[in-house]
Amino acid sequence: MSNNEQTLSIIKPDAVERNLENEIKDMFKKKGFLIVKEKKIQIEKSEAEKFYKVHETKPFYSDLCDYLSSGPIVVMVLEKENAVLSNRELMGATNPKDAREGTIRKKYGISIDKNSVHGSDSTENAKIEIDFFFND
Ligand code: UDP
Ligand code: MG
Repeated sequence: MSNNEQTLSIIKPDAVERNLENEIKDMFKKKGFLIVKEKKIQIEKSEAEKFYKVHETKPFYSDLCDYLSSGPIVVMVLEKENAVLSNRELMGATNPKDAREGTIRKKYGISIDKNSVHGSDSTENAKIEIDFFFND
C-alpha cells in the first residue's frame, strides 16, 4: 500500500541566513513530506568536499565546498511516496533562472550557486547522503 521513500534535503547557507528555514519547511509539509530527522549544523570544508565528491572534477567544486561550509545549514530526512523525485520537482532546476513557478528555487534561489536547497538525485544517493549526515 504505502511506497514511502526517504531523501536528504539541505537548506543551504543563503536561505538559513535569510531566515527562510520555516518557509521552506512549510513548502515541504504542504507537499506532503514528513520531516523525520533534522539538525542545524555548520560543516568543515573537508566534510563538504566529501559530501560533494561526485563533483570533484568540476570547475565550481572548490567554491561550492567553500560555500556549503560558509554558514549554518539545516539537514533533513524527508519522507513521502516517491520522495526523491517529488523533492527534485519541488526544488526546481539547479539554476533558479530556469526553475518553474511554484518551486523552492524559483521562489528563494538567488543564483546557480546560492540556490537555497540541496536534494538527493536518486534513491541510491539518498541512502548514501542520509547515512553521511545521520550515521548514528
Ligand atoms: N553549482 C554551481 N555551478 C554550476 C553547477 C552547480 O555552483 O555551474 C552548484 C549548485 O549550487 C548546485 C550544486 O553545485 O546545487 C550541485 O550541482 P548539481 O548539478 O548536483 O545540482 P543540483 O543537484 O543541486 O540541482
Ligand atoms: Mg546534485
